[in-house]
Amino acid sequence: MKYCQHCGRQVDVNALSCPSCGYAFERQPQHVAATSSDGHSFGYALLGFIFPLLGFILYLLWRHPYPLRAGSTGRGVLTRLVFYIAGMILIIVFLTSSFSEYL
Ligand SMILES: [Zn+2]
Repeated sequence: MKYCQHCGRQVDVNALSCPSCGYAFERQPQHVAATSSDGHSFGYALLGFIFPLLGFILYLLWRHPYPLRAGSTGRGVLTRLVFYIAGMILIIVFLTSSFSEYL
């Protein structure tokens, strides 16, 4: 048995709405078949790393239905961003040090 989020009455597990107050229930995560395909994935993390923009879009799309997969993709994008920022810093440091030779 589950309880109505709106009025607190006990309702049938498979009920789509509350028979007492008519509150429409959201589908429970365990009943969503797609959730079984969710999981941490190195492949999607790699995808987010190679294609950060695509990874970010997929992260936004999957954040709700596939939180674990979205998390992996998001981490890939973040890792890429860290590498990107580190690379930019290295280039700036390199440019400043090579310019300073002429000063
Ligand atoms: Zn209710």
